[in-house]
Amino acid sequence: MPGARLRFGCWVILFASLAASGDAASDLALVYNRGQHDKVIVQANGLIGVAGVNDKALRYLRGMSYYRIAWFGAAAQDLVPLGDYAPWPRWPSAAQESARLATLRQLAPTHTTVLTQGRTAIFRVYCDEDNDWSKAVIATLPEAYRQVCGYFGVQLAETTALIFHDGPRYNSFYRTWSGATPTSWQWATGSGGALLYCECDADGKRATDPAGDYFRGCIAHEFAHCLVNRVLGTTPLPPWLNEGLAMCCGALLAPNDNTSNDAAMRTLVSSGRLLPVETVIDGDQFYQHPGEAYPQAFSMARFLTDRVGHDGVINLLNALLAERDLDRALQRSWKIDQRGLYAAWRRTVTPQ
Ligand SMILES: [Zn+2]
Repeated sequence: MPGARLRFGCWVILFASLAASGDAASDLALVYNRGQHDKVIVQANGLIGVAGVNDKALRYLRGMSYYRIAWFGAAAQDLVPLGDYAPWPRWPSAAQESARLATLRQLAPTHTTVLTQGRTAIFRVYCDEDNDWSKAVIATLPEAYRQVCGYFGVQLAETTALIFHDGPRYNSFYRTWSGATPTSWQWATGSGGALLYCECDADGKRATDPAGDYFRGCIAHEFAHCLVNRVLGTTPLPPWLNEGLAMCCGALLAPNDNTSNDAAMRTLVSSGRLLPVETVIDGDQFYQHPGEAYPQAFSMARFLTDRVGHDGVINLLNALLAERDLDRALQRSWKIDQRGLYAAWRRTVTPQ
């Protein structure tokens, strides 16, 4: 992959200097509220024990961040000793979060495997059964890590992957973890800070064939969501770009996805089913039209990559991290907005 890297650096030095003069915990709470939990953990590690900082608040924020990326053991170590403590009004107490954490740990699969790259742990995998399906997921994760981290230019700290055999328990875990009910196709998800897989789909049918391209592509796709979520946090990312980038990552493990996308786009165009720009930039509308929205998002992300190159895409994401608005990031990078980009893309896929 070319050289651009998604900015995922730590601000330890900046925060260490703030600790001497200001309220480091309040500053770190801003990072927490932006959903950048890896960053919170790194910064809290650098600040806890420094004279003059509020260690209790820092341990609370670090524990909550561990919790958000499903490092449950580390979260419990920070949160349980804090009891009823909450650092600020309207924040949940550590005890409340510890109780939910205990429920999740009871529901989580119990067999543990740590996958490493060199001497670095890249996945901590929990599975219900050591069977062919879970083995196929585990065998695919290191390649997904290499390809997706290479694509974004990020070395992601250990990711928790939970592989369920038991569908109802997966659904309970999913609901407790995300607050939502899994839909019929959600046998794999990486939209939180961790990866969840279920051998049985939410409707009880057996999930995807582990020998197929779709299986491999989905594992990379969901890991891409997980990585983007951990780097961008709550930075708004319109669904066409979020799903489009995840599909580009899926194609790194399933290259036939590119030719399948060309065929899907020809069908959408010939049947007059292209979605308007308003639908693909709207988080609710996009997911109401999955048959059209996903191929279109993939095609738009491939178009963007063709036009600005891989480095251009990564630089756009860095601009998005700074601007927190994709139209402003596009304007800053190429003097265009999403509507302009959509119009340029549409001209390339529709006959003149
Ligand atoms: Zn997706």
